[in-house]
Amino acid sequence: MTFVTPRLAESLIASAARRIVTHEDELSRLDAVAGDGDHGVNMVAAFTEAEARVAEQSASVSPADVFSFTSAAFLDTVGGAAGALFGAFFNGTARSLQGIDNPSASQFVAALDQGLTRLVRVGNTELGQKTMLDALDPALRAARDALDNGEPLASIIDAAATAASEGAAATAAMRPTAGRAKYAAKQSTGTADPGATTVSLMFAAWAEVLTSEVAQ
Ligand code: ADP
Ligand code: MG
Repeated sequence: MTFVTPRLAESLIASAARRIVTHEDELSRLDAVAGDGDHGVNMVAAFTEAEARVAEQSASVSPADVFSFTSAAFLDTVGGAAGALFGAFFNGTARSLQGIDNPSASQFVAALDQGLTRLVRVGNTELGQKTMLDALDPALRAARDALDNGEPLASIIDAAATAASEGAAATAAMRPTAGRAKYAAKQSTGTADPGATTVSLMFAAWAEVLTSEVAQ
């Protein structure tokens, strides 16, 4: 059974940061279609700051700390909507992991679920508004289903990554009714939501880390 050790939590943030860095231009291009074109820059700034803060404290961190530092990095680094919303997501995740040294798959999925709940509360967002929620909600649903089927953590996160990727792709056909993009709804037709794409990239990176972890 795989537990989310502090070291694994650290790798999750580092791998997400690397994945986002290699997709920076794509994310900003997506945001330029109906937004202000800064999403890639915002996410690179936040994820690399999160990775650095976690690495700095490396000796003493718990998984809750890793997600708590990540939340603070998003809130401190990014002024835009996505900073506050990912900050809320990671904060909800961190709070749920408080006091658990090595969370199990079920505790980790429950924590991500708490993150989702915080994001929805802060963003006042519903499904179908063409936002990051349209990737995150299906990802968590797939994770819960895989967990209920008794699958190990790597398969759970792999299922979440597939659902997030499908969810992000499906946003291309949606009409934005939240965030900046709602003011340029027409232009946004046919283009995936940048925040949803970031969610999909993050889960893809996590799935890769967990799969290689199991192979070792
Ligand atoms: P900004 O829009 O402030 O420039 P970013 O470009 O970094 O911030 O992030 C844009 C992303 O934020 C969108 O693609 C969308 O996924 C997400 N977003 C914006 N508003 C909301 C909201 N109310 N709920 C959920 N996600 C939102
Ligand atoms: Mg933007």
